[in-house]
Order: sequence, then C-alpha cells, then structure tokens
Amino acid sequence: MAALDDARTELVAALGADAVLHDPLALRLYARDASMVEGSAGLVVFVRSAEDVVVCMRVAARHDLPVVPRGSGTGLVGGATPIADAIVVVTAKMDRILEVRPEDRLAWVEPGVFNLDLADALRPTGFTYAPDPSSQQVSSIGGNVNTNAGGPHCLAYGVTSAHVLAVDVVLPDGSVGRFGAEAPAAPGYDLRGFVVGSEGTLGIVTAACVRLTPLPPAVRTMLLDFAEVEDCAQTVSAIIARGVVPAALEMMDRGIVRAVEDFAHAGYPTDAAAVLLVEVDGLPAAVDAQTREVEAAAREHLVGTIRVAADDTERALLWKGRKSAFGAIARIAPHYHLHDCVVPRKALADILAGVYAIAQRHDLIVTNVFHAGDGNLHPLFSFDRSVPGTLERVLAASDELVRLCVDAGGSLSGEHGIGLEKRDFMPLVFTADDLDAQACLRAAFDPDGRMNPRKVLPDGARCGDYAAAALGRDGALPEGTWI
Ligand SMILES: Cc1cc2nc3c(=O)[nH]c(=O)nc-3n(C[C@H](O)[C@H](O)[C@H](O)COP(=O)(O)OP(=O)(O)OC[C@H]3O[C@@H](n4cnc5c(N)ncnc54)[C@H](O)[C@@H]3O)c2cc1C
Repeated sequence: MAALDDARTELVAALGADAVLHDPLALRLYARDASMVEGSAGLVVFVRSAEDVVVCMRVAARHDLPVVPRGSGTGLVGGATPIADAIVVVTAKMDRILEVRPEDRLAWVEPGVFNLDLADALRPTGFTYAPDPSSQQVSSIGGNVNTNAGGPHCLAYGVTSAHVLAVDVVLPDGSVGRFGAEAPAAPGYDLRGFVVGSEGTLGIVTAACVRLTPLPPAVRTMLLDFAEVEDCAQTVSAIIARGVVPAALEMMDRGIVRAVEDFAHAGYPTDAAAVLLVEVDGLPAAVDAQTREVEAAAREHLVGTIRVAADDTERALLWKGRKSAFGAIARIAPHYHLHDCVVPRKALADILAGVYAIAQRHDLIVTNVFHAGDGNLHPLFSFDRSVPGTLERVLAASDELVRLCVDAGGSLSGEHGIGLEKRDFMPLVFTADDLDAQACLRAAFDPDGRMNPRKVLPDGARCGDYAAAALGRDGALPEGTWI
C-alpha cells in the first residue's frame, strides 16, 4: 500500500528505524489485544514522548491512515485491535512518573506506566492510586484511563474517572490539548470526562494527572463461604443495605474457586457453592464495626465459614486467589470468552440463575468471578475453539446473556469497555438519537473518522445519519477474525 509505505519512510526518518516495526511477526503480534478478535496492523510505532505522538498523528493525517492507540494490550473487547491496516501507536515506552505531589494529592504520569508500578511508587508517601484492575501488574495508566477501568477496590473508591483530574491529549490532526485541571471543578465543558473511557477514539493520551488516595490506617479481609449461590448473592445486597460500603466485595462461584485453588493454593473452600471476598478499611474502630455488620448480614443468609485474614501474608494469599482467577481458568479449557455486564445489585441472584441456564442450554461451561458489590458480572465461558461449532455456541450464549442483563435494567460494560466486541450491542441501550449525539461529539475531535475507527459506536453510520442507518446485531459477528 503506497500510503503505508510513504508513512513508514517518514516515520522512520523522524523517529528512527527501531521505533517503527513492519515485519510480519510484529504486525501479527500487534493485530490483537487480550480479546478474541484479531485484526490487521499496517505499522507498529513505539513513541517515547508527546512530540513523537504529534509526529505520528501528522503523518497519519497526511496519508489519510487510521490510528489505533495501544498501551499494554490487555483489553478484553478488541479496543486496541487494529482494523484495516491501521498505524498502531504503542505508548508502552512512555513510562515515567513525572511528578508526585502528596501535598496537592496528585501525580502526573505518562500513559505507559503500569498501574501497579504507580501504586508501589506512591506507597512510601502514604498514598495510593486507588483503581486496581486485576490486570494491574501489566495494564497501563493510558489503557486504564481510556477504558475507565475498574477493579475490586472501586466499589468504595470509584472507578478510574473519579481519579483522573486532567489529561494531555494529542488529537488526530496533531494538535495538543489539556482537558481538566489540577484544581478542582475546572470551568467549561467536562472534556476530561469525555476522554476518560473513550477507548482511543478521540486522540492519544500522553499524560494524566491522577488523584492520590490516602492508604487506609486499618484493613480487614474476610472470606465467606456459602452452600447456595443464591444466599451468597443475596448477602451482597444485605451488606450494602446495612449501610456498609466495603472497600471490596468480590464473588466467586464453585468452578472458579476450584480452578483458583488448584493454582494459587490460597485455602479457598472447594466444596462451597460460592464465596465472597470482603474487605473493609478505615480507622480501626470503623473496621471493627463494619466487620460486625458484614458478619451479621452473612449469617442472615446462612453463611458457612467466615475466615478473617490474620495478617498481611494471609490477606495477600486471599487476594492472590482472586487476582489470579483469569489465569487459573486456563486449567478448565484453552479459550475463554468473558462479559462484564452490570446489573442492579438486587437482581444478582436471579441473573446468576439465568446465566447458568443459558450455559446449560448451549452446552457450555460457565464460571463466575466478579465485582459483586458493583453488580458487575463477569460470566466466563471456557471452551476449546478447535471443536467445530463451539465458537458459534459461545457467541449465541453471549448474545442471550447480554440481553438478559439489559432486560434486567443493566448495562453493557462496567469496566472493560465496548471496543469491537460489543459495538453492535449499543442499540440495545441507546436510541438512534443518543448514538447520533455521541457520534457528532466524536466527530468534533476526529472529523475524518481515522481515530480507532469502527470501535464503540455501531459501524455504518456517521454523525447525522444514525437515525437512518440499519442498526442492530442481528446475529452477525463483529468484523475481525475470531480466534
Ligand atoms: C487477566 C485480566 C484481568 C483484567 N482485570 C480487569 C479489571 O479488574 N478491571 C478492568 O477494568 N479491566 C480489567 N482487564 C481488562 C484490561 O486490563 C483493562 O481494560 C485495561 O485498562 C487495559 O489497559 P491496557 O494498557 O492493556 O490497554 P490496551 O488494551 O492497550 O487498550 C485499551 C483501550 O485503550 C486505548 N488506549 C490505550 N492507551 C491509550 C492512550 N495512551 N491514549 C488513547 N487511547 C489509549 C486503546 O485504543 C484501547 O481502546 C483485565 C484484563 C485481563 C487480561
């Protein structure tokens, strides 16, 4: 492709040959994220500064080429999957923590910094960066900002959006903007809020100003087991109804517990139908009071054992079980497909029953490990792609699952985003006019539609013509190759 060749020549001249990859192996490696959809990359560019990003954007604009931003590629919805030979701009090498100002409770970081590296660097100051996706060892702040990532501790502390004060963004024409401000309540439109969770469709974030959260003086972690999934699910609402918002409230069903225990040896009860991992934090007296409420709510719902972590080592072990869940399920089958619908907390027990029924109808293995306090389900189908017809059954079951959650008043995603995989479900929750408003706002940033195209909004329509376009999933697979 002449445009790509010319773009490569210009990018090599500006950024150096080692910053621009185009060999078949590299193009293949960067053709997908951690989801199941593979696309095709035209070029892969490693940027080291905001100036490098400006160069990429200008070259891409000159040659009318699409651009796909990429952090660590751990996204689960195909957000960083390039379609149509795009230029993949990788921010992984922009990995400096630029400034930490505990007195102002903020830090400026580059997008390639790993989430956990930031939290570790802040610890000696007595602060942390609160959003803690289970992928935090490897997922980047740029990716977290652009997916509005959540995590176990986002129940009490809020998801990424609540922790981002400002972002520096390079727009598709190469211009640079700062949205938000260090000071609270930045005047004007909240374009910071528009960028957070925009999945790389507006520009490339080159720095983020994040809020620091004080480390809690006391923490208590408990593992509660139940003989019935329903009792476990109802305990979640019962805890919140007692006025306690735990720092974390995670649920795992038997299938996950067994896989995790085989792998992490955390002492999880493998005979339980489901377990809750509950963490409360705050001043010591408040932690004691919250613990009593959690225990009382669980007893009302026939809890079996309540195990309280005796020290930091046991606490870390209990969390190791939860955080290694997605890795552990490789023991069940070689492939998995995951959803992260959100449902009203009160509906959890019914929805879980529906999830198991769907899996049974499609003859699939389903396990559940999720942020129960937020009602953020993660039903996970485990399967072997090489068995003919299996992927089709997984996708049919996924379709039913999403509709089940939406019909219960839920939403498509609590944290992973929409990307490519869920794009065509958007009309289930938005009218054509709603979608049109979103498309027009997006077009104000990216009038040529080159920024991570075909992601988030259903394809086939642009600003102004959603109402007329034929929208809907209609059983068709999203584009890209399902692997
Ligand atoms: C084992 C496992 C556990 C996970 N657990 C969680 C969890 O608990 N909570 C959660 O929210 N997610 C979780 N995820 C999903 C994933 O880790 C998050 O979505 C994460 O925020 C993605 O970060 P990344 O750096 O890998 O981004 P990528 O996958 O590289 O990109 C994600 C999206 O952000 C865009 N993007 C990336 N960087 C930039 C940038 N600098 N500027 C503009 N756009 C950009 C991309 O275009 C893409 O749309 C998990 C994934 C795995 C594999």
